This record gives sequence, C-alpha cells and structure tokens, in this order.
Amino acid sequence: MDNLIRILRSFGEGEEDKTFTDSFVDLLKNRVMTNVERMYEVGLKFQNNRVIFPPPWDSIYAGLKEIGFFKRFIPVDYGGSGASEESIYFIMELLGYTCPSLGIIFVAHGRAVDVILAGRDEALKDKLLRRLGDGDFGAIAMTEERAGTDVSAVEFSATRKGDYYVFNGEKIFISNAGLAGVYTILVNTKGKKGARSLSVFAVEDEIDGFRVDLLPEKDGLKILPTGKIIYENCLIPRENLIGDEGKGLLLALDAIDRGRILLAGIACGIACRILDEIFEYSRKRIQFDHPLTSSQDISFKMADMYTQINAARGLCFHALKQVHSPYYRSASSQAKLFATQMVMSVAQVGLMIMGGRGYFRNNIISMLSGDARGMEYLEGTSSIQKMIISRELFKSYT
Ligand SMILES: Cc1cc2nc3c(=O)[nH]c(=O)nc-3n(C[C@H](O)[C@H](O)[C@H](O)COP(=O)(O)OP(=O)(O)OC[C@H]3O[C@@H](n4cnc5c(N)ncnc54)[C@H](O)[C@@H]3O)c2cc1C
Repeated sequence: MDNLIRILRSFGEGEEDKTFTDSFVDLLKNRVMTNVERMYEVGLKFQNNRVIFPPPWDSIYAGLKEIGFFKRFIPVDYGGSGASEESIYFIMELLGYTCPSLGIIFVAHGRAVDVILAGRDEALKDKLLRRLGDGDFGAIAMTEERAGTDVSAVEFSATRKGDYYVFNGEKIFISNAGLAGVYTILVNTKGKKGARSLSVFAVEDEIDGFRVDLLPEKDGLKILPTGKIIYENCLIPRENLIGDEGKGLLLALDAIDRGRILLAGIACGIACRILDEIFEYSRKRIQFDHPLTSSQDISFKMADMYTQINAARGLCFHALKQVHSPYYRSASSQAKLFATQMVMSVAQVGLMIMGGRGYFRNNIISMLSGDARGMEYLEGTSSIQKMIISRELFKSYT
C-alpha cells in the first residue's frame, strides 16, 4: 500500500489535505485491510429492509465519520468540506486497493450527491445534502428488468396527483439498496417510452409502500449491498423532483460521467493490490531452487502488469483534467473502458502465476478477481463505453 501512496503522492494527489489523508490511510491500514477478507467471507445479512454488515463494520463506519469522510463529498455551502475531484480519486484508488466493495458504496453515494446538487429546490438540497454529509448513504437507481444498457426504456411510473407524484415500480441491481437513506431515482413521468419521458427524484427511505429485497450472492464485491428497490403507491412530494420534468436522463448521465473515472480508479487500486500480492507470493515461492521472481517470464509478466496499471491511471488523470471540457464524457469512458479491462487481465495473469493455488477460492487474488469482474458492469458495460467513445469521436470529426 505504501508503494501506491507514494505513486499517487508523486502526482500531487492527496496533498491538499494531508491531515485527512493520513487519518484515512491509518483507518484503511488498521481497520479495513486487516478485516476485509473475513468480512467478505461472512458477507451481508438482511433484516427489515436494512442491510446488516459483518463486524467490524460499525468501527469502520464510526472511523469514517470521525475523520469527516462523508463531508468530503459535500460542497462547503451545504455543510461539507468540498474535496477536489483529484482528492476523491485518491480516496477511490486506495479503497480499490483495500476494499473494493467500500469503494463502490461511495461511488454510488457520490452519484446521489451529484444528482441532488443539480436540483433547484434549495430547501430540499440543503436537507438531503446535510443528511448525507452527516453519515447517511445515497444511492442512484436507474436499472430495471427491461432497462439495462438501454436506460431510455425506464418504465418505473411516476404519475402526477396534485402536489404529489405516485410512484409504482421496481429498480434492480441497486448499489446501497437497504443501506441508503436517500435514493435518487430515474422514473417515467409521461407514461411513454423515450428519454424525454424520464425525470429524476431524490427520495428519502422512510415512506409507506417502499421496500427493499437483497439480490442473491454475487461473484465478487461481497460487502456491496446490491438489491431491488420496490415502490407501491408511494406518495412523493413534487419538491423532490430534481431539475425539469423530462430532463432526468441527461442529469443522471452527467453524474455517471464523474462516476466512471472513480470506478476506473478503483480498478487501478485493485490491480495494484494484485500486483503487490503476486510479488510477495512469487518472492516466496521456490521452484527449480529459485524464487519465481527470478524467472524472466514471471518478472516480464509483472512488468506488463505494472505498465498497464500506470497506463490506466494515466487515462484517469487525463480524464480528471477534462472535467469542464467537451472531451470529458469521452475521456471518462476511455478511462473506465481501459481500466476495467486492464484489471481483469491483471487478475487473470495473477491467478496464473499462482499456479494450482490460484484455482482455489480462498486466496486473496481470487477474491480480488471477483471484484475486478464486477467493475465491468457498473456505470455501463464496456460495449456502452465504446458506444460513447465512438459517438463522441465521430462528433469531433464533424
Ligand atoms: C454489482 C453491480 C452494481 C450495480 N449498481 C447499480 C446501481 O447502483 N444503479 C443502477 O441503476 N444500476 C446498477 N447496476 C446495473 C448495471 O448498471 C447494469 O447491469 C448495466 O447497465 C448493464 O445492464 P444489464 O445488466 O441489464 O445488461 P444488458 O443491457 O442486458 O446487456 C447484456 C450485454 O449486452 C451488451 N449490449 C446491450 N446492448 C448492446 C448494444 N446495443 N450493442 C452492443 N452490446 C450491447 C451489454 O454490453 C452486455 O454485455 C449494477 C450492476 C452490478 C452488477
């Protein structure tokens, strides 16, 4: 981990608030990294619409609150500490290294913050953002049974009734389901298919008719709550509409552009961890009277891994510099595409270097490869990233 911190710091990451970074790294080393394998093994439980994390989640959560972690995602005007994009990236890569599930929890959380920030009702923004800054979690819910890659197919119905909208529908695969206190939801307010029918709402979890179902166990990201959220005749006040009716998809996609860079950062963190673990393993594993690291083939494989990781990180930093430019969408998709493919290939080579031991489940590399695979689906699959990149590229030619 110290290697990774040195690399990130050499780019100036995490330097803006050294006190926070030092406490954060301390928490990761002493409470997260030492317990992550056990937490993954025990997994999540679910009771009364709420997810229950394995120990020592309470201590990790308390530590994060104590160092002002939740406030970093919230602008100063709403009671937060307004960390820069680079600083959030630094956090995400370290979470990828230590506990990718926790990284995704906060990517989803941050997307909810971004969506709420796009709203116009200052009272609502102030209330929800302060709640999230004080330690509650956010979620972003777009996917449905029939609206996966094609988000414009969202059918979740929100029908206007006086000062309320009546919500009826289900969202699936939602990160932070049963954990979040605030859900940002893409709904259909016009009753017909198409992007212009979609609107976004921010809704708190304490409503009649709302329930959560945890989905079956995943191949990785074992302590990321991923569930179904269900609304039956829920009355949602008009003020909870974020932005204009019919403009919800654009708003949600803007938030997702930012999320893609952070997911790419988590992928880089996972890959760094795999490389560190593989180095340690190869150093100790003796064959033909020599450690594996002395084989040129193995050392070249590690050289390739290292180069690929740095190339992916380079794309992330490039994307971070494009935040206000017209190339942002393409740059963040490129970073996500490359980094998520890179981490899967790093994981595969890592498992191969472990020989037969890599085939058994209870090793850290197989745990991380399950996490690596999950990165592909979040915020759009690789095919979707290619669609975005080619569309933006063709636009730039005309
Ligand atoms: C762990 C996890 C967490 C998630 N968290 C969230 C969340 O918090 N919020 C949320 O809203 N969603 C979430 N999702 C859902 C995720 O965004 C979707 O799984 C993803 O968008 C793909 O949709 P789908 O699974 O329905 O696949 P499908 O849309 O059925 O696609 C299946 C395959 O076909 C490909 N494909 C589809 N259409 C095309 C095309 N036109 N051209 C070429 N290829 C195509 C896709 O790339 C994919 O490989 C999560 C998913 C996972 C696994």
